[in-house]
Amino acid sequence: MLHKISLGISDIDRYRRVCHRELIDEVVSLGEELKGLRLCHINSTPFGGGVAELLVSFIPLLRGLGISADWQVIRGDHRFFTITKGLHNALQGAPFEAIKKESIRRAYLANNLANARELDTDYDVFIINDPQPAALRHFLPDHNSAKWIWRCHVDSSQPYDMVWNFLRPYIEGHDAAVFTTREFVPKDLCLARIATMAPAICAFTSKNMFIERELCRQLLENLGFDRSRPIITQVSRFDRWKDPFGTIAAYRMAKKKVPGLQLAMIGSFAQDDPESGDMYAAINTEANKDGDMFIYSNLTGMGNMEVNAFQRASDVVVQKSIREGFGLVVAEALWKETPVVAGNAGGIPLQMTGGLSDYLVDSIEECAEKIVFLLYHPEVCHRLGEEGKRIVTKNFLIPRLIRDELRLIKSLLGG
Ligand code: UDP
Repeated sequence: MLHKISLGISDIDRYRRVCHRELIDEVVSLGEELKGLRLCHINSTPFGGGVAELLVSFIPLLRGLGISADWQVIRGDHRFFTITKGLHNALQGAPFEAIKKESIRRAYLANNLANARELDTDYDVFIINDPQPAALRHFLPDHNSAKWIWRCHVDSSQPYDMVWNFLRPYIEGHDAAVFTTREFVPKDLCLARIATMAPAICAFTSKNMFIERELCRQLLENLGFDRSRPIITQVSRFDRWKDPFGTIAAYRMAKKKVPGLQLAMIGSFAQDDPESGDMYAAINTEANKDGDMFIYSNLTGMGNMEVNAFQRASDVVVQKSIREGFGLVVAEALWKETPVVAGNAGGIPLQMTGGLSDYLVDSIEECAEKIVFLLYHPEVCHRLGEEGKRIVTKNFLIPRLIRDELRLIKSLLGG
C-alpha cells in the first residue's frame, strides 16, 4: 500500500478569530453537507514544498469538518523523479527533449501503473497534485464511481509542447482540473470542468503562528547573525525557477549601498526533486566566499519554527522567482507583516497587489534597488507589512481554499 501520512484533526472554529463569519459558516455548512465523504489527496513528497506544506494543515481541518480526508504519497526512484522534475520544469515552459524517448515515457507510465496498484482506492474523490501522479487514474479505469480532480500547482500557461501533448490525455481523463489562475490553464485543455483557486496558508501552524519578534531575532543571533545589522532572507526549494543566484547577485549589489547587509538563503530538499543537491552545492560555494551570507536547509535543522523566525526577524524577505505557481512563502512573509521584494512572476502578483505591487521586480538591479529603498525606509516597511497582512487575511488563509475545494466537489457530485 502507498504511504498514508499520519495527521490529526483540527477545528476550523479557531479561524473565527481572523476570518469573516460568513466564510467560516459556509465552510462548516459545506462540511455538514459532505459529511462522511471519503476524500484523498495524492502527491509525490511528504515534505519540502508548497503542496506538502498545504496538505499538512488542510487534511486535519477537513477531518474536523466531518470529511474523511487522507493523503497518500506515491513512490518513485531517482530515475522517475528525474523524469517528473523534467515534466515539472516543462509545464513551466522549459524544454524537456527526453520526452521524445519511448523509454522515458514508458518509465513514467510504469511507475504510475505500479502506484495505481498500491493505491487504497476506497474513496469518493481523489485530488491528484501536479504531474507526478497524473496518470494514476488512467490505470484505474474500473474505479469509475470516484471523482478525480487534477490540481496543477505550477505556472502552466506556456508549457513545453511535447510534454504537454504527452500529459494532456492523462489530465483530460480526470473529471475536473484546478489551476491557481485562469492564465495558467493551457489553451487546448479540453475538460468539462476547469476551476481556479489560489493556494492559501494556515495561520496557526508552527510555520505561521505568532512568535515575538525579539525571540526570533535572538534565534537568528544564536545562528551567528549580527542583530545590529540588516538581514534579508529568501526561503525556497533549491530550484532554478526560484532564481537563488539572482537573489545572491541582488544582495551583493544592495550591499554596496548597505554595508553590513546579511543574507540568509533557506532551502529545502524535497524527496521528488533530484536537482536540488547540485543547486545546494553551488549556492554553498557562493556562501563560503562571504561571511555575511548563510545557507540553511531542512537537513541542517531548519524546521518550521526556524523558518517562521527568519520570516519575522528579517528586515526584508526576498522571493526573486522567475516562474512561480503561487509562492506560499510570499503569503507567509506578508502574514507576518514583513515587507517582500519578489519576482513579477506567476502567482506572486496575485498576492502583491496595491502598494505591494511596487516591490514586484523584473531584474536583479530592480531587486537590489527595492531592497535598498526598504532598508532605508522603515516607515514604508511598516505600512507594507500592515497592507500585506490585510491582503493575506482577506484572500489567502486556508478556510477560503477549503471553501473553494468543497464547492467544487459538491458541484461535481451533483450538488
Ligand atoms: N519551505 C520550508 N523550508 C525551506 C524551504 C521552503 O519550510 O527551506 C516551505 C515554505 O515555507 C513554503 C513551502 O515550503 O511553505 C514552499 O512553498 P512555495 O509555494 O513557496 O513553493 P514551492 O516549493 O511549492 O514551489
